[in-house]
Amino acid sequence: MNQPQPAAARRKRPKGPRPKHVPQRTCVSCREKGDKRGLIRIVRTPDRAVVIDPGGKANGRGAYLCHKTVCWERAIETQVLSRALNIGIADETKIELKKYAATLGDSESSDRTAAAS
Ligand SMILES: [Zn+2]
Repeated sequence: MNQPQPAAARRKRPKGPRPKHVPQRTCVSCREKGDKRGLIRIVRTPDRAVVIDPGGKANGRGAYLCHKTVCWERAIETQVLSRALNIGIADETKIELKKYAATLGDSESSDRTAAAS
């Protein structure tokens, strides 16, 4: 029962101040969106290092991961992070990322979805 919208319902851009904009970031692994603080930033710095940037202030190209350890593992094991940052991830960087992921402490880690396909 989709009625066509009357022409008068055309979207109008409101003038004046816009509603407060909360920057949304997307986890490169699970594609879930969250606000900036809900995700952890990984940065490819100008000297081509890949570092974790919890403060979100480092220069460079950033990618975001959420707090789920599985997302970090997937990002490390697959190409998603490397692709998001457009750089190969060095083995030692992967180790750092894994260490960081281990500190995320998802206390509810028994959340196993049957991801095998
Ligand atoms: Zn995620």
